[in-house]
Amino acid sequence: MINFLSLKDVNARYRDELVAAATRVIDSGWFVHGKEHEAFEKEFSAWLGGGITVGVANGLDALTLVLRAWKQSGFLASGDEVIVPANTYIASILAVTENDLVPVLVEPDERTYNLDPCRLEAARTPRTRVVLPVHLYGQVADMPAIAAFASRHGLRVLEDCAQAHGAAIDGIRVGLWGDAAGFSFYPGKNLGALGDGGAVVTRDPSLADHLRALRNYGSHVKYQNRYQGPNSRLDEMQAAFLRVKLRHLDGENQCRRAVARRYLDGIRNPRVALPPDGSEAASHVWHLFVVRVESRDRFVGHLADSGIQTMIHYPVPPHLQACYPGLHGLDLPVTSAIHREVVSLPMSPVMGESDGQVVIDAVNAYRG
Ligand SMILES: *Cc1c(COP(=O)(O)O)cnc(C)c1O
Repeated sequence: MINFLSLKDVNARYRDELVAAATRVIDSGWFVHGKEHEAFEKEFSAWLGGGITVGVANGLDALTLVLRAWKQSGFLASGDEVIVPANTYIASILAVTENDLVPVLVEPDERTYNLDPCRLEAARTPRTRVVLPVHLYGQVADMPAIAAFASRHGLRVLEDCAQAHGAAIDGIRVGLWGDAAGFSFYPGKNLGALGDGGAVVTRDPSLADHLRALRNYGSHVKYQNRYQGPNSRLDEMQAAFLRVKLRHLDGENQCRRAVARRYLDGIRNPRVALPPDGSEAASHVWHLFVVRVESRDRFVGHLADSGIQTMIHYPVPPHLQACYPGLHGLDLPVTSAIHREVVSLPMSPVMGESDGQVVIDAVNAYRG
């Protein structure tokens, strides 16, 4: 059986370091907002190559709290519009609606699955204030074009980096292209904690300062509250684990690229469309390796018969979710086709060459 992703195997390689980190936290007697958290924020910014990191409880909160801060500081008002890709994971859109803002769903570039800059102008209205690109599956969105569009119209850019830790264009990593960025450290992400975690990155010191209060009930100084805020803290245990995992992240992304390289070179089947090759430009960190097939059920069944586990990211597009009845009428043919046809092949930093070959052979043997 070839698993889609074994988190047990991923973390087993660092067991001693993780146990040492946990021991350090337990022995310190300090569990929330202490030395580990402070060190992780500094180390994450250093690894990224800039920006201020503000740890929060998860990736959804990272996105939600940036929009909330922009509302509280007067840049946004209820009913303002945020341009988002129509084919993202639903959390990107939940962050918008959670703030009483209006998501304007835009069809992706069918090749990269990312926000199509050519469609931005048509989506703009007098109420547009923010563009929220998602670097889906680990592939960088076209940030130079998106940033240029935003600055032309006085919009802010909030990057959803939950799937793309380490992806870059021209050496500038995602998280540093926008006005702010949200990262998730959910266990299955490229940088995964052993529980939940997230962070905002921004170059704007006043936003960072605002977020440090917001994540902690809106309080800058103990028992004094400038804002109404939630509790969204990254705890010491997860911060300590993340410091260990961060040291191995670039190496893990290289391993993911090697898996992707083998797939891209080895899969030759006219019924299976491959993703674009972003490995050379470092624009892709292969959170997922997603192919497209017309008769998806048969393809998934064929691979399962060969002992290969696959996943679908994602089976139902956000505009057809039960929680968004107001979006059901949207006509988004590209997004709908993508959701019908995508399949994620096994992808992990610990996947060996022989397992990769088994997948390649099974995909190439598929006859529809
Ligand atoms: C995982 C994910 C999120 C949310 O992160 P959590 O830490 O699970 O809250 C947001 N956006 C995208 C694209 C994601 O993949």
